This record gives sequence, C-alpha cells and structure tokens, in this order.
Amino acid sequence: MTDNPFFESWDTPFGIPPFDRIRSEHFAPAFDRGMQEQATEIAAIVRAPMPPSFADTIEALERSGQLLNRVSRVFSNLDASDTNPALEAIARDYAPRLAQHQTRIALDPELFARVDDLYLRRGELGLQDDQMRLLERHHLRFVRAGAQLAPQQKARMAAINERLATLHTLFGQNVLHDEREWQLALEPADLDGLPGFIRGAAAQAAEERGQSGRYVITLARSSIEPFLTFSARRDLRRTAHEAWTARGTHPGEADNAPLISEIMALRAEQARLLGYDDFAAYRLDDSMAKTDTAVERLLLQVWKPAKEKAFEERTALEAAARAEGLNEPIEPWDWRYYAEKVRQAQYDLDEAEVKPYFVLDNMVQAAFDTAGRLFGLSFAARPDLPVYHPDVRVWEVRDQAGGHLGLFLHDNFARPGKHSGAWSSRYRDQQNLDEWVTPIVVNNNNFAKGEPTLLSFDDAKTLFHEFGHGLHALLSRVRYPSQSGTAVRRDFVEFPSQIFEHWMSAPENLRQYARHYQTGEPMPEALLQRLMAARNFNQGFATVEYTASALLDLELHRDPAPEKIDHNEFEREFLERYDVPREIGLRHRPAHFGHLFAGGGYAAGYYAYLWAEVLDADGFAAFSETGNVFDPSLAARLKDIYSAGDTRDPMELYRAFRGRDPEIGALLQQRGLSGNQ
Ligand SMILES: [Zn+2]
Repeated sequence: MTDNPFFESWDTPFGIPPFDRIRSEHFAPAFDRGMQEQATEIAAIVRAPMPPSFADTIEALERSGQLLNRVSRVFSNLDASDTNPALEAIARDYAPRLAQHQTRIALDPELFARVDDLYLRRGELGLQDDQMRLLERHHLRFVRAGAQLAPQQKARMAAINERLATLHTLFGQNVLHDEREWQLALEPADLDGLPGFIRGAAAQAAEERGQSGRYVITLARSSIEPFLTFSARRDLRRTAHEAWTARGTHPGEADNAPLISEIMALRAEQARLLGYDDFAAYRLDDSMAKTDTAVERLLLQVWKPAKEKAFEERTALEAAARAEGLNEPIEPWDWRYYAEKVRQAQYDLDEAEVKPYFVLDNMVQAAFDTAGRLFGLSFAARPDLPVYHPDVRVWEVRDQAGGHLGLFLHDNFARPGKHSGAWSSRYRDQQNLDEWVTPIVVNNNNFAKGEPTLLSFDDAKTLFHEFGHGLHALLSRVRYPSQSGTAVRRDFVEFPSQIFEHWMSAPENLRQYARHYQTGEPMPEALLQRLMAARNFNQGFATVEYTASALLDLELHRDPAPEKIDHNEFEREFLERYDVPREIGLRHRPAHFGHLFAGGGYAAGYYAYLWAEVLDADGFAAFSETGNVFDPSLAARLKDIYSAGDTRDPMELYRAFRGRDPEIGALLQQRGLSGNQ
C-alpha cells in the first residue's frame, strides 16, 4: 500500500492526524511496520558497545517506536470514540500481538542487562534529576514486568500478557454490545414525570436510531440516570435499572463472567511469579498508597460515616415515598427518583430548574476561561482542521505569551459506536528529547445532544474533570516522552483532574457562566444559593456507591485464589459482609466494571479517585483559605504540578504546592461526612 498516511510525515497544521485520509485498512500494515521498526531499534540498542551509556540505552529506548506509537494512539482513540466492526476486528486481532511485542522488549535479557548495569552505576553517571528518575523508573518497569525471572517463567509471563490483552478487549466489546442492544422505546403515554430536556434527548436518540416521533432511553449514563431520576413510572424505572445492572451478565457470546474468572486467575498468577501474594500487593507496591492496608484504611475511614449518612437519606426517601402512596420498601430503581423529590422539598431545588442554566457551550467557555485565569492559557477554535466525526471541535491552545502550546479536541456527545463514560486521552504527548513536540489532547464525554445541549450539575463537573486531565497533558514541560503529562502514578493522576472540578462550582464562575439558555440571564442569586446549600445532598448515596466499588475491587484483587471465586456468590457475600445498603446496591458489578476488566490500568486501583480526593479537597482548601480561588501565587505553584509530569515524586510535588502534607479533613467536609464520623 503506497498511500498509507501512517507512512508519511504529516504536514497538517501542528501535526494533527489527517483524519480525512485515514481508513481502517491503513492500521494493520502500520501496526506491522511499527512493531518491526521498533524491534530493529531495540536490536541496535542491544548491539551497542558495552558498557552502556545513558544516551545509547535509556534515551535510545525513549526514542524508539515512534511509528508504532503514532498508529497506536490514533487507533485506540478512534476505537474508543468512533468504533465500527472493522476497527473492533482489528482490536481483537492486534491486542495480543501488541502485547507480545511489548513483552518481548520488556523481557529482553540483553536489553535489561544494559539497563541494570546503568542502574547499578547510577550514582556515577552524572545524571540530572529527571534523568535519574527516568532510569530508576525504567529499571523498576523491567523488574516488575519480569526481567529478572528465569527463562521458563518469562515465557509464561509473556503468554499471560498476550492472553490478558485479548480478554480485556473482549470484555470492553461485550459491554458495548449489551449497551448497543438495549433500548427502552417510549410512547407518549410512558413519559410521566420526564421534564422537557429528557424528552428532547430521548426524541433525538430515537431519531438517530431511525425511530422518528418516538422516545428512546439508552444505557448511556446521560440517558439512563436522568430517566431513573425523573420517570414517575416505577415499572419502567425497574426495567431500565435491571437492564443497566445486567450489562455483561447475559449468557451467550457477550457474557463477561468467564472472562473475569480467567483475567483474575492470570493476574494472580503473574503476581505470584513476581513474588507477591496476590495481585493487589503487586499493583500497590508501585503506588503512592504502597499497601492494601493503607488503601483499606482510607476506604473504611469514609465507608462507615457514608453509610450512616445514606441511612439518614433513606429515612427521608421513605417518607417521601409514603407521601406518594408507596408503602413498599425503597428499591434501587427508586433511590434517584425519591432523592430528587426530597431535594426539591428540602432545598426547593429542581434539576429541571437548574439545567437550563448549564448550557454546554457556556460551560466549555467557563473551563477555558478558568484555565486562562489560573494558568494564562487561551483557546481559539480551529474549524479548519480535520476531525474524525462532525461532533468533534478542535481548539488551538496558546500560552501566556501567545505561543502555540498544543491542540485540544472536544468530543462531547453520546452516540452509537462510542464507549460510554468520560475520558481524556492524547494523540501525541509533549516532549523535548530532540525538539519541542507539542501535545494533541482529546476529551470525550457522553452528553445527550440537544438544541442547545444542557448539562446537569454532575455533567458539568465531569466536563471540568476531563478538562483537568487535558490540562495535565497540555501544560506538560518535560524532556522525556515516558515522563510526559499524565504519565504519573495511578493514584496521583486524578489529582489534577479532580482539583479542577472545584472551579466549576465556584460561585464566581457560576455567576458568570450559568446563564439561562433562552434569556441569557444569569442564574438568580437565590437559586445559586439553594444550589450551593444542596451540594452535600445525597452524598451518602454517592459515597457509598463509589466506596463499595473500590472495596469490591480491592477484595477481588487481594484474593490469592481468585480462580475459585463464584461471582454470584462473591457479590452476595460482599454485600453482606460490608452491609451495603440494599437500596443502593452495586453501581459497578464485576460483569461491566470496565475500569477493572476492560484494561488493567485501574485493577486494584479504583481507590485512586478517593486517594486523590484527599489531595484535591485539601489542595482547593488552600485557595479558599486565601479568599481568592484564583490566587496567583497558589495558581503558579499548582501549575508546577501540571507541568512536572513524572519528573518528580508526587508527594514531593504536593508538598511544594501546599507547604505541608495533605490532611483528610477537607475531604470529609466536602462530602458532608465530618458530622457523621
Ligand atoms: Zn479522571
């Protein structure tokens, strides 16, 4: 194939991928050649003279695999945001081959001998701080991949990696399959309780599925959650909730149960090969938390007060239900519905009254302007640049001095072919090894499209959250690719995203950007005050949902013999042992818990959000304490964290920003749990 864009250098503005020219048949040959090229580069590193130097080994490793990296980034982003059967087939085909390729490098004995030699002499090499950390992290990565194992064990590690890559891919595809298969088509008579914005989004979803004139609820979070919150039809809420919690559990070819058992068994086996008792011990050894005991301590510190708060909330919900004539116990498909009633009664706050003030475009502008006030960035629309889907908007990001900093792609709407949830990713990372390379960042959301698109308060927080990740990548100022932006420890990576959420709900910002979509009027001060007052409402429920998921992750991954787990039995036993309120249940059952099984990144790592929340609550309190949430000197110190990537230890970075260690008080307060401790 001569016209494969992956084999050319891109003369597009700022090197944005030429999406208009990339076709699915370009990926396979590019993956093949990319792997081949990197294998050749690694062979050259291994053949270089002994003793090795930092430049001919570590820097050469950092330089290797550029074509592979380029095609992998484009592929994985498109496969997540805009997939189709052809891309899904390539994913299944190449996931194990790519895993095999990476494992071959990680377990190459001659390559490791060079890295190890450098590591042992690291004090004599005259390295700068970022180089020292880079060498130490590379060495640790080799060791943790199994570089010190005997040949037979290495072969087993390689086989497991390959199989895991396939299993992760299949798991994610199965969840998407179940989400695509299911829809709840409503007739006008079924719309009881649904406010205009839900009807509008449901009509739009119906139209996209060729059912004009009807209303369709889907399993996308932005569709199902509002439905469960507002539908007055208890029977339909139940149907929808049951479909939502059944994703991945249907017997047949999209059943995730057998995949989970195999994934868990293979992870445990890898941990044992590397000398750990279980997968959690292995995973956490390279984290800020360090041990499962430290993780458990944090989770339990929150678990008990969260449950007590949830039980208080339940009492209020039951009263609201009885007032409506429901004399049965509250069920999981009732919680959101009655919580909304209680919220309206207690705070005089109606989601349908709030939502008209959260216009997507205004909140995007709020995020941009916040980045401007804190970090000096500005954003200019570039409708002239190529995109992979008409929904995507491209922005050029400029720094304080007006210089080009990077590109930001915003892909905000739910659609078939897009994985659910919200995430931030990159097409290219910032680095400066040979020349300054600028980042190309993408944020994905799954908002229900409307005219205009209106967000819930939580949607707006999610928008800011992902944008915080985006800033972490955009503000990166590092030399080495593998230290770029978000390449930090898993339990630190949520700090830059979560602290940024605080600016969404800062009254200064709400007064300016929360404007009515029809009148353009700012949110009335009284409504804003009620919104602020209700901020901790239902936090018992939200904290229980989250913490139960994190505890479940921890329990699964610290089981030394997970292959023996019967998953139905495990769920039952887990709910009982932790006394999970039955009206809340499990938000993420293992069968669709993508964070744990559609990839390995968050396995034994779901706690990371709460771990980082200790930091973000404590960190934002620093701004509140000054009385100015845009305090320039604090903002400058925060920017240092966003810019440092993985060049420094995260706790060191945090201390330099805050002037002390983090404290948990602000977290308990922001979740309204301090009174319940
Ligand atoms: Zn995040």
